Amino acid sequence: MKLYNTLTKQKEEFKPINPGKVGMYTCGPTVYDFIHIGNIRAYATPDVLRRYLEYQGYEVRHIKNITDVGHLTQDDLDQGDTGEDKIERKALAEKKTPEEIARFYEDAFKEVEKEMNILPAQYFPRATAHVPQMIKMIERLIDKGYAYEKNGNVFFDVTKFPEYGKLSGNTLDKLKVGARLEEHPDKKNPWDFALWLKAPKEHLMKWASPWSVGYPGWHIECSAMSTEYLGDTLDIHTGGEDNIFPHHEAEIAQSECATGQKFSNYWVHTRHLLVDGEKMSKSKGNFYTLADIKKKGFSPMDLRLAILSAHYRSQMNFTWQSIYQAQANLESINNFYNRIINYAPSESDKFSNFTVDEFVKKFKEALDDDLNTPLAVSVILEFVNHGNKLTDENLMGNPAEVKKTLETFAKILGIKLEGVVIPQELIELAEERKEARLKKEFKKSDELRSKIDEMGYIIEDLKDNNYLIKKK
Ligand code: AMP
Ligand code: ZN
Repeated sequence: MKLYNTLTKQKEEFKPINPGKVGMYTCGPTVYDFIHIGNIRAYATPDVLRRYLEYQGYEVRHIKNITDVGHLTQDDLDQGDTGEDKIERKALAEKKTPEEIARFYEDAFKEVEKEMNILPAQYFPRATAHVPQMIKMIERLIDKGYAYEKNGNVFFDVTKFPEYGKLSGNTLDKLKVGARLEEHPDKKNPWDFALWLKAPKEHLMKWASPWSVGYPGWHIECSAMSTEYLGDTLDIHTGGEDNIFPHHEAEIAQSECATGQKFSNYWVHTRHLLVDGEKMSKSKGNFYTLADIKKKGFSPMDLRLAILSAHYRSQMNFTWQSIYQAQANLESINNFYNRIINYAPSESDKFSNFTVDEFVKKFKEALDDDLNTPLAVSVILEFVNHGNKLTDENLMGNPAEVKKTLETFAKILGIKLEGVVIPQELIELAEERKEARLKKEFKKSDELRSKIDEMGYIIEDLKDNNYLIKKK
């Protein structure tokens, strides 16, 4: 398959370091609040990538960190934030410990991932549990001359790494001292970044180190934890587009200088999700979590299908219309699934086969082309239309194969199908009703409908006297 690599700015054939195995690292959440639908989008991309690699027979080791030290992000700097540790700020506001805050939102994050059918990473390393590994890496960087200490603070010296900027294009000659860039008096160059900071007295989360009692810088956790669980070189590193600079640029600098090896072969970045064409923000009232989506009557799978209906490298514009469309599409997929699960081919069906191979081929071609999920979704919808048509015409000779194919497509995209096997007794009642309707015995047919209703099912009439039974 081909993947667009942010590092080389082109689509490349994916080749893992070790045949049959893939090591993938995803920058996880900073656990001080509920994740929003933009974050969900950023986690859906590696999930589909992993599912598709697994389908192709790869063994994927996926690591997603939990940032339970509340570093600043570029967003905070852009928005002129105060620079406080977000987890500590929340802890003080809620009169809880930072650990209580972090564990609460970590659990909430995992619950959202579960509802969204995002496969759990094999391991979710927490930053607070890996400070010794970070200290070791910082020591290595100092020993090799890439980092320096001053007044208990340690910085990475960007001028020592000539390749700085190779991921984002922000090479040192292009970087000017931005007005928003916070200067630290102990830095040699404005673009040097912190590896370790001495903690002020009131700081709650702090650790002993060779330089000061302090806390790790913003980027070092991902370098230290990815190496710990996946080795010096990763196959794939993923994140949202805002991670490219400075976070991932800094990860490359630290890791490559510490290990002398290439850090990651492929860099996969999901573009941002906008809401009604604008950046999500709490003050604009367009900031949605999964709970908000559910309150409006949509399911996590509706949201998942809406997300996958846009390519991960296109800026997605979330609107209520887009999720409404996804809900309708999901309903038609599930309706067909139910139809096929409960379909008993008749004599005439035996003469026709639904050729699934051409759909499988198109589906794979879509995903092979840099994970083109919108195209893959449209292949499923075509498959469903074709299947409905053949079933209407009593030309469905291979329902078991069709069912299995649909299940495979759904599994790769992580869409949970809702299938109900209808009890035989109910099918008999429905057949009796069909007979009654054909004979225009409407009273009898209504009675049978009520009986089916009492058993907890609804019957929907389709073209040509066909019908669909659904659980209420
Ligand atoms: P954070 O907890 O802020 O570090 O964000 C977690 C992940 O979500 C990161 O990979 C971000 O790049 C990503 N992310 C944040 N906002 C959005 C958004 N609006 N759309 C897509 N991804 C986002
Ligand atoms: Zn990271």
